[in-house]
Amino acid sequence: GGRHQAAAPEPGAAPGAALALLGAVPGAPSCPHGPALLFVKVSHGREEGRRFYACSACRDRKDCNFFQWEDEKVSEARLAAREEYNRNHQPPFTHRQNVERYENFVLLPLSKRRFCQECQQLLLPAEWGKHSSHQILCDISTAQLRSPSQLLYPLENKKTNAQYLFANRSCQFLLDLIISLGFRRVLCVGTPRLHEMIQSKASQEEDFRVRSLLLDIDFRYSQFYTEDEFCHYNMFNHYFFGGEAAHETCRKFLHQDKDGRVIMVTDPPFGGLVEALASSFKKLMAMWKETEKEGYENQEMPMFWIFPYFFESRILEFFPSFSMMDYQVDYDNHALYKHGKTGRRQSPVRIFTNLSPSMIVLPVEEGYRFCAICKRYVSSGNQHCEICNSCTSKDGRQWKHCNLCKKCVKPSWFHCNNCNCCALQNHSCEKTDAGCFVCGKEGHKRSTCPSLSHT
Ligand code: SAH
Ligand code: ZN
Ligand code: ZN
Ligand code: ZN
Ligand code: ZN
Repeated sequence: GGRHQAAAPEPGAAPGAALALLGAVPGAPSCPHGPALLFVKVSHGREEGRRFYACSACRDRKDCNFFQWEDEKVSEARLAAREEYNRNHQPPFTHRQNVERYENFVLLPLSKRRFCQECQQLLLPAEWGKHSSHQILCDISTAQLRSPSQLLYPLENKKTNAQYLFANRSCQFLLDLIISLGFRRVLCVGTPRLHEMIQSKASQEEDFRVRSLLLDIDFRYSQFYTEDEFCHYNMFNHYFFGGEAAHETCRKFLHQDKDGRVIMVTDPPFGGLVEALASSFKKLMAMWKETEKEGYENQEMPMFWIFPYFFESRILEFFPSFSMMDYQVDYDNHALYKHGKTGRRQSPVRIFTNLSPSMIVLPVEEGYRFCAICKRYVSSGNQHCEICNSCTSKDGRQWKHCNLCKKCVKPSWFHCNNCNCCALQNHSCEKTDAGCFVCGKEGHKRSTCPSLSHT
């Protein structure tokens, strides 16, 4: 695999410079978020300067300022201080403690069930005093405990932990699809709302047979789920904070019997690092493969990777067996993606899957139709192009074929003889050689990425 533009350059970096991710390497130093990743500055496509380690999970130095040169000698004293720091920056309660707290919490009468909004924590009566000056939610019902994603505020730090929660319609669609495809176990990686929908149904409907395990870096969820239902996990370095026991929980979950087929559903933060995600997902797939599978020996763990369409080529680079579905995934709290020009929501977020596209039935009542030639469901506006012999639109609008580019392009694009490709009419022909942070394409920076319509 090649090296990829991974993060925005440091302030003051030369134009054309960017950071490239070299990946997870054995013996890497750790921050509170597990082993750090190795990066290097690249300029005009070449490595420049010293390689360094930085936090895998946090893009914003304010959230985790871990930094170490690859060839740096770190003194014993600094190593000890770092270990101490890492220990001190773990959550105040362990998962076990949180599970015990929950067991006590649900025994309380409604009038004594309180949740501190400031600390994002369920409170036991003995702790009320400490939180007396905080915003408190009272009378926490069983229904509220069943939907923690509504109770907790979404983490909205753009760089590190942007939580974009599925709209109910999209979440229900995913679950119905999973069930109709015959899956009975769902590994939810960064999809707390899907997990919560499954857990909630499993606790209320007797004949509901689907099970799920949530892997997420948001430790607040450990207040609501047992060790068999939630693992504190970092998907950028495949790090289980709960150690070998958590690893084993995941392994056990992936062990399927003949009527317990497993699918993994993930919806990672969009801020890049596709390579790191792919590497972790391959490790999860390998874990699935290690467990005995009657009759599925030569297969890959089925997966839905939910991600914006402009990452298609990056995802296919790592997972050539994947294809992109036309279904537009909707979110409750995503400012950028809520409304298109047409009034109807237009979301750039899609489902990538290694299942056969012909099996993924999209809702006709939402305007999707089946293309008999492509043998897959497509957006209503996605016309089959006779020349490409495929339904070529990526964004739901009707695309047009360019004979010079020999492919279909966005309706707003025109062929530019200078650039020798199609582009927006008012584009500037000069190119920069560093790819965009958001879509990976050359010619523009993240701030002007055409894929994001800024509000
Ligand atoms: N649409 C999903 C949420 C996606 S938001 C749903 O409604 O269920 C991205 C999710 O990934 C969040 O839950 C966030 O906590 C989690 N996440 C962010 N960084 C992560 C990391 N490094 N490792 C694991 N999970 C992470
Ligand atoms: Zn960190
Ligand atoms: Zn078609
Ligand atoms: Zn075409
Ligand atoms: Zn063209």
